[in-house]
Amino acid sequence: MNRAVVVGASLAGLHAAQALRRQGFDGELTLIGDEPHYPYDRPPLSKEFLTGPGDVDKLRLRAAADPDALGVRWLLGRRAVGLNRHEPSGGQVLLDGGEAVDFDGLVVATGARPRRLAPELDGIHTLRSLDDAVGLREAFDAGPARVVVIGFGFIGAEVAASARARGLEVTVLEAAEAPLARVLDAEAGMAVADLHRGHGVDVRLGATLTGFTVDGRAVTGVELGDGTVIEASVVVAGIGVTPNTGWLEGAGLTLDDGLVADETCLAAPGIVVAGDVGRWPNPRFDRLIRVEQWDNAVEMGGYAGRRLLAWGRGEAVEPFAPVPWFWSDQYDRKIQLAGVPGPGVAMAQGTLAEQRFVRVYHRDGVVVGALCWNRPRQAIQARELVGREAPLDEALQVLG
Ligand code: FAD
Ligand code: NAP
Repeated sequence: MNRAVVVGASLAGLHAAQALRRQGFDGELTLIGDEPHYPYDRPPLSKEFLTGPGDVDKLRLRAAADPDALGVRWLLGRRAVGLNRHEPSGGQVLLDGGEAVDFDGLVVATGARPRRLAPELDGIHTLRSLDDAVGLREAFDAGPARVVVIGFGFIGAEVAASARARGLEVTVLEAAEAPLARVLDAEAGMAVADLHRGHGVDVRLGATLTGFTVDGRAVTGVELGDGTVIEASVVVAGIGVTPNTGWLEGAGLTLDDGLVADETCLAAPGIVVAGDVGRWPNPRFDRLIRVEQWDNAVEMGGYAGRRLLAWGRGEAVEPFAPVPWFWSDQYDRKIQLAGVPGPGVAMAQGTLAEQRFVRVYHRDGVVVGALCWNRPRQAIQARELVGREAPLDEALQVLG
């Protein structure tokens, strides 16, 4: 393999490029990204970037602090629009503007984009990129804003907390009966709702959005299924994401809620996937999974770089089998989950009402997950216990 190309110049792509170089790849390495910026960190965009001074320079990812040091050809502000594959491997990435970049090995790390509400009106925001965050910050600055957040997932919860920290009036609408239903059990989700209510957020669960009130092209409010209208000068839609696979259509790869790969993240000969866009059979689960979390993008990016080199050298690799892991900062709470919820639940420490606890999830007495609120030390221990599928009794003792 002489020419490696990484598409997606963000967290997973950068770590893939870094791993390729660290493992001794000395061929041509090209990193293609459609954003004009060097890789930056997204987690602060919903947190301190909205509440603090909004310092853009602080967001740059450490691995890209010196962009020349990686020995990468950066193609920024360039979008991949297609993929031509050669037999038995290799091919070309087609860019907007007509250019084609040849590769022997390819890392797909194009992440995901926010789902959007229709119609698109002035005052309705999504939050994925730095440019989105700058726009939302300006809308908050323009105040006095009445903020309505649609969707009580991660974006909804964190933007609501940041808007409250700025003293703005906030309503959160969620169609489900509990927040963060994709990642938490319903009881823990309700603890998140309580946390927000305690900070003055108007939380409406089981609420359906039916439309908007407008003044010209500007949103002035949201209409609910029960006829209620809530005034809004800023609407933030946090209703999930769609993996960026459009540019791969017609290339003979398996696209199904992401680019599907084998248990070593190999999607086809010489093509590996990393980060939010990838769906693979993590051997810890009995199904394909796609993980939309920071830690996974770092680990999967690093793994993908090593995997591609191993493919080039004809070497075997272990499957990619990480324990899912995320954190979310809301107000003064650090919420961390190792593994996945349910079906069995036991409290190792504290109570949901205290909003400071360690909650252990198990299946037939084997630990599958642990949720830690303001318990960072236990969160690290929990990750280790989940990783080796420890017995529940041991977990309760260690984490208690
Ligand atoms: P992305 O970061 O989405 O990067 C993909 C890149 O590819 C983007 O730059 C995109 O523009 C580019 N791209 C897409 N299509 C093309 C194309 N056709 N051609 C060229 N380039 C393309 N996770 C946590 O665990 N904890 C947190 O607290 C947390 N907070 C978050 C806060 C926000 C506001 C957001 C948006 C995410 C947060 N996450 C958090 C999730 C985490 O940031 C993502 O899981 C991570 O960014 C995924 O990295 P990635 O490289 O796979 O994808
Ligand atoms: P998310 O966490 O998937 O949550 C989306 C929420 O919106 C869910 O509660 C979903 O409910 C709801 N929803 C979906 N369609 C809706 C609709 N039409 N109307 C109203 N509600 C709707 O996604 P997100 O909050 O938008 O976050 C975007 C991405 O950023 C995710 O990948 C997330 O992981 C990442 N992120 C992570 C963090 C973190 O880890 N701390 C922080 C910020 C962002 P259903 O589940 O019932 O569909």
